[in-house]
Amino acid sequence: MAAKLRLEDKVAVVTGGASGIGEAAARLFAAHGASVVIADIQDTLGRSVSASISPPGHCTYIHCDVRDEAQVAAAVALAVDTYGRIDVMFSNAGIVGSMAGVLDLELTDLDAALAVNLRGTAAAIKHAGRAMAAAGTRGSIICTASVAAVQAGHSSAAYTITKHAVHGLMKVAAGELGEKGVRVNCVSPFGLATPLVCGALGMSTEDVERVSSEAAVLKGAVLRTEDVAAAALFLASDESAFISGHNLVVDGATTVVGTSLHAAMQNHFA
Ligand code: NAD
Repeated sequence: MAAKLRLEDKVAVVTGGASGIGEAAARLFAAHGASVVIADIQDTLGRSVSASISPPGHCTYIHCDVRDEAQVAAAVALAVDTYGRIDVMFSNAGIVGSMAGVLDLELTDLDAALAVNLRGTAAAIKHAGRAMAAAGTRGSIICTASVAAVQAGHSSAAYTITKHAVHGLMKVAAGELGEKGVRVNCVSPFGLATPLVCGALGMSTEDVERVSSEAAVLKGAVLRTEDVAAAALFLASDESAFISGHNLVVDGATTVVGTSLHAAMQNHFA
């Protein structure tokens, strides 16, 4: 028996879909029957990912810098014009930006991170939410936040600030768009090896995976882009039909445990 397609006849826009988590999500959404618009600034990569997604004709690339609201609106319009509707917005484009702590933070660096991570997400929610509400679509908007949206100590000051803000934005939007039948949630990964992290830290894929796995509470698994895409697929699909305003952490229990005072005490008396 053929496997059930979880996004059959749905249309999704994936920002930051040329690479990493967004690319994995674009592939998974399409494999589950969705037509997908990849919106990114890496044009060559984005076009090549789009062309490689099957079935042919079910994925389109658009240059879209999420810092420019008009380009985000154009990506949503392309989905509606090309495929007739928009059901899913995966607002996933993000940057790490400056690795400085708060005492050394250049506020222009904070502005740069806010422009992509927060303003870009606000634009995606606004334009996808408008299109969904206008069409009476019971849509799903998913924002990639981070464990850095839940706790400090996982990344730089600027990144942590912006991701906390994305979490807050999601809650505001879930409240407002709920009245229109549109769901809004976050997916919040722990550290995984993508160009974003490997580039920011100057580390290899193997080193990021090893360090991240050592830091995670859950052992015996390595967090990969496909795991985050699977969480996004759940939030995109009708399986999560009554889930809105939720932050789905994909962190192997790491943020619920945090620093273990209990373990430190036990080590002290060992
Ligand atoms: P990635 O670098 O592989 O992908 C990010 C994509 O966003 C790239 O394709 C990039 O071109 C695109 N992008 C950047 N600026 C953009 C802009 N202005 N307009 C449009 N697109 C833009 O990295 P990733 O790890 O897959 O990142 C995806 C999301 O996951 C980000 O929001 C990131 O903050 C978040 N995240 C990543 C991790 C991790 O450890 N990798 C952990 C938690 C959250």
